[in-house]
This record gives sequence, structure tokens and C-alpha cells, in this order.
Amino acid sequence: MSLIHARKQGKIGRITLTRPKAMNALSAAMLAELSPVLRDWAEDDSVALVVIDGEGEKAFCAGGDVAEIHTWGTSGQVEKAQKFWREEYRMNAELFEYPKAIVSLMHGYVMGGGVGLGCHASHRVVCENSQISMPETVIGLIPDVGGSWLLGQAPGRLGEYLGITAGRMGPADAIFAGFADTYIPQSEWPALIEKLAETGDFNVVDTFGQTPPAGRYEPMMDDINAHFAGESMGDIVRSLRTQDTDFTSKCLDSIASKSPISMCATVELIHRQRASNLTIWKVLEQEYRFTHRAIEETDFIEGVRARLIDKDNAPVWKHESVEDVPPVLISRLLMPLGKDGFSKEEKGQTMKIGFIGLGNMGGPMATNLANAGHDVNGFDLVAPCPEKVNKAASAQDAAKDADIVITMLPNGAILKSVAEDILPVMKDGACLLDCSTVDVESARAVSEAAEKRGLLAADAPVSGGITGAAAGTLTFMVGGSEEAYKAALPLLDIMGQKSVHCGDAGAGQAAKICNNMILGVTMIATCEAFAMADKLGLDRQKMFDVVSTSSGYSWTMNAYCPAPGVGPQSPADNDYKPGFAAELMLKDLGLSQQAAESVDADTPMGKMALALYEKFVEDEDGKGMDFSAMLPRFEKRGRE
Ligand code: NAD
Repeated sequence: MSLIHARKQGKIGRITLTRPKAMNALSAAMLAELSPVLRDWAEDDSVALVVIDGEGEKAFCAGGDVAEIHTWGTSGQVEKAQKFWREEYRMNAELFEYPKAIVSLMHGYVMGGGVGLGCHASHRVVCENSQISMPETVIGLIPDVGGSWLLGQAPGRLGEYLGITAGRMGPADAIFAGFADTYIPQSEWPALIEKLAETGDFNVVDTFGQTPPAGRYEPMMDDINAHFAGESMGDIVRSLRTQDTDFTSKCLDSIASKSPISMCATVELIHRQRASNLTIWKVLEQEYRFTHRAIEETDFIEGVRARLIDKDNAPVWKHESVEDVPPVLISRLLMPLGKDGFSKEEKGQTMKIGFIGLGNMGGPMATNLANAGHDVNGFDLVAPCPEKVNKAASAQDAAKDADIVITMLPNGAILKSVAEDILPVMKDGACLLDCSTVDVESARAVSEAAEKRGLLAADAPVSGGITGAAAGTLTFMVGGSEEAYKAALPLLDIMGQKSVHCGDAGAGQAAKICNNMILGVTMIATCEAFAMADKLGLDRQKMFDVVSTSSGYSWTMNAYCPAPGVGPQSPADNDYKPGFAAELMLKDLGLSQQAAESVDADTPMGKMALALYEKFVEDEDGKGMDFSAMLPRFEKRGRE
């Protein structure tokens, strides 16, 4: 029996989901029927637009068929589940990029997989009984099918709120949150479909649009923004605990029943998806990192058992609370999957990559590229060649046949000398991608020399440190032509979670040194405040609890707290072993002052930060320590 009813009706192609007893849940069989129809109609001139609706009163589509996935997961057929997710995500992306208008008529429950089917359409219609939600944290999953991206685009911190608490959106809420476009009472849908079939014109949808009854989330936005803006799930819970109101207690109750791993990963994913330049394919690739691992490494199987199979509603999660979930677990669950990953191409294209500079950062970055199936030839004067990278005899040897040469070197002078060596042997049209942190002038000089040789070039310094390099979660700030950025993007996507094209050659380095000037200054401010708080007799934990949720909030306080035993794990908990070494901060502050002088910018705080790190590294005991070791330095001192 067919699970969908696909037919042409006048000028439209109409798909009705016909599995009402299962609330039109999206199964593998249904997916196998849907995708080919959509692909055929994309190229069929007799279909002007597509309408998707669902049979039965209760639901447009109540989600992916997780009971089916649970059966596979508990009977040794994990690959079947992974294949289902990949195929579902492919359909989500194809809907998002569909060349014709799609009108989705979303009545009743629209959850998870139903959102993937209905909410990527170009014209999303809701009615009086629509209830849209991403309830994955209830069953130990993350908002997927592109849902983490939709949540990330919602106003303020509504996305975090809805993703964590699995909140349901009525019609006005769904429009407010960006999950739907138009409210049309269901009684008008037959007339709407008839008119669409007659005209083939999607503008008809607007003419039927009405004002929905008021929603509930818009008036709650002050509370939502105040408590759901933290860097991590831990920050959000801490913020909710600081107040005892109806809102905070309902949120905390809701959080207590959800999977801690799922909530932590949901916040991280939503934050990642806010990057402006992600394609739908990249969004889904990030979500798939979690779902690929969900059966074996997360709460997913237990969540489905408790909620949908045994229905005891008493899941035993792997962790008691979000504070028990190690941040490193979330990083690991969201690490790139290499050749197992989800991508637009069924099989990722293999590139030939030269990688020069295989130190603390370059080594793991090159390994991630090799793990993703690329052919990487690496060279370093000293550092060992990682296992999966081919060892080249020289920099020229690594560069000569490469489509892209990546450099990860200590400074601008070394970069210039390596560039002088390799540019003559690089093949025409290849790209030189420098990921080191160097001065803006060296970056521009190297880019100019590469372009003169007929090559593409980009400066793409990173933030995220050694952990980010290993986890493939770096942020790249890119300067160079659009063409160079496009050439580098597939590799940036593997080595990192986000890239921002900042402008022409040197713009990436400019962004990096501005960012790190802020970082150095804030770290000093955070450390001196902690040392002063000690002397005022204030408990460090209390200081953290207040500042991390007040206006003194910063990355150095919330994500990289310099006080041992306080806040998330950081180098302070490991005797200040770097992490990000004080001498690297000194280097970056030096670069920022060099740049400030060259353009006559007044940067008094940056200048003082440079002087302080200089003293710390050169005259005191800062060398070889993490840059957050400023705190023990301040502890020992009185006013000068
Ligand atoms: P690193 O010293 O560990 O690595 C640099 C490598 O370059 C070394 O292994 C060195 O042998 C090699 N090298 C030097 N000259 C060479 C040459 N002529 N040919 C081939 N190899 C050569 O440093 P790292 O920590 O990997 O940092 C690399 C770059 O990334 C730096 O510019 C740094 O500022 C930047 N960065 C580092 C971090 C971090 O946390 N470590 C964070 C962001 C940015």
C-alpha cells in the first residue's frame, strides 16, 4: 500500500501523506516514495508548483519514524538507521533548494521529521490547530532535519528555548519563530488548492492569508532572552536558577525531564548554525555528526524506549544533569565524521593537498583532512608527520601537484620565505591558503605574489586553539577573493565549524588580531577581578555565578574561566598548561599593535595588554604557561 498519494492536479503536483494512523510519521518506505516524485516534478514543465499536505485530522507529519529506527538500533542494524537519516537529510536539502515553489499545508502536529518536510518549503501555511515543535531532547536526540538552523534563525534566544524545552508553537508562534509564513484557516484549504491548481501561481497563497490568533512566545521574549543567552547549557541552567519565578521554575521542570546530552549538544549546534554563511548541506552535515553517533553513544535508544516503546516515561539518562556532561563529550559527538560524514556529493571529491607546518595546530588539521578522504602530503622541518598524512621530502615536494597548499607556520617572515620557495612550483590555478597568524602586511605581500603567479590565495587565520584543531571546530577568518574563498571552503568545512569571508587579502588577519586584542584585554580584566575578589573575601564560585550571568559576562569568564575548579574545564584546571600559550597571546598582541601603528589607531588597552604579557612572558614566569595564568600572577601581587 502506498504511503503517499502523488498526483497532478491542474497545474500543480500534489503529494498527500497517507499514513494517518501513524500520524503520517516519515518512514524509510515513505521517504523512498517521496524523493523520486519530488525529483521528477522538479524537471517536469507541466508542474508549476508542488503542494504537500497530510491525510487525517491529527497531524501533517508527527516526525521521523523513530520506533523503526529504534528497532534497527537494538538489532545490530545501526547502518540502516544512519542510511535513513542521510536520505532524509538529502530530501530536506533538496526541498530547501527546490527550483519551484512548494506550498506545505501543515495542520495538527508537525514535529521533527515533519518540520524537515514542511518547514523548508517556500510557502509554509499553518491553521488554527497547527502545533509545530522540535521535541528531540525528549527522546535523546538533537533538533535535526535542518531544525537546528531554523531554531538558530528565530528571534533572540527563542531558538535555544524551543530546542531545549521542546516547546510547541501554535500558528502565530510558528510565524513569529520563522517556521511558517501564512495563516489560513483549514476550512479554506480546499479552495486554496483549487485556485493553485487552476493558476499554478504561488502568489495565490498570500491572497488567502489571515491574521492568526495571538501566540504565547512573543510576550515571553524578555524572560527568554535574559535566561537563554548563555555560552553553554550550563550557563542557561545557572541563569534560570538565579531567579524564582513562574517562568524559571517551568523551564527548570522541563529541563529536568530532558536528556542532558541532547540539551548540551542542542545549544552548541544552534550556536554553530547562527553563522551567516552556512549552506543547508553544511547545516545537515553538522547535525548528522550527532545522529550518526546517536545510537551507540547518546541517550537516544533509552529515550525512545522510555517515551515510545515501553511508555514508562522514566528514561535513565547517561548523566544526571547538564553539569555532569563533560564538554569534551559534546565536542566529540560533534566532531567531523571524515568519510562517513553527510555531504552533497554522494562521495566527497578527493583533493590533493600540500600541508606545510605540522606543529600543534597543523598536525591535527592535516589529520582531519586525511580522515575525510583527501590525499594530504605534509612537510615540517621538525614536527613528526601524522600517521595518515604522506611525508613529503621538502616544502616544494608537498606543494608541487597540490590543488591547495595550506601553511600553518609560526610567523610572517617564515611564511614569506616558504611562499618564495613554493610559489614557482605550484600548479596553475591552485590555491595557497595560509592559516597561520601573521601580520597583515606579510599576508598581503604573499597574496600579491601568489596572484602574480596566476594562483589563488587567501589568508585564513583561526581561533579555537589546539582542541578546536583536533575536533575540527575551528573558526576561520578569511581574507582574499571570492574565488579563493570558494576553493578553500570544502576544506575549511572539514577543519572547522565556521568560516567568515571578511574581505580582500589581509582582512582575515585583521579580524584575527582585533579579536585577540579583545581576548587579551578581557583575560587580564577577568584575572585582576578574581584576584581583587579574593582580597575582598568573595568566594570564587559565587563571583563566577554572578558575573557569568551578569553584565561582566565574557568568553574568558564563561568558557575559559581562569580560576581552577570554577566554571567549565579549562587550562586553569590543568596547572595552567596551555591551551593557548602566553607567548602566543604576546605574539598576537604584538601584531595588533604593529597594525594599530601602521594605520594610526588609538588602542590604549591593547597597548597595556601587550606590555603586561611582555613582562609576564619575558621577565616573570609566564613562558610555557597558558595565557590565563595571569590570575596566579595577580594573586601574588599588591598595588604597584
Ligand atoms: P607550532 O610551533 O607548534 O607549529 C609550527 C610548525 O611550523 C613547527 O612544527 C615548525 O617546525 C614548522 N616550521 C617552521 N618553519 C618551517 C618551514 N620553513 N618549513 C616547514 N615547517 C616549518 O605552532 P602552532 O601552535 O601549530 O601554531 C601555528 C600557527 O597557528 C601560528 O601562527 C599561531 O600563532 C597560530 N595559532 C595557534 C594557536 C594555538 O593555540 N596553538 C591558536 C590559533 C592560532
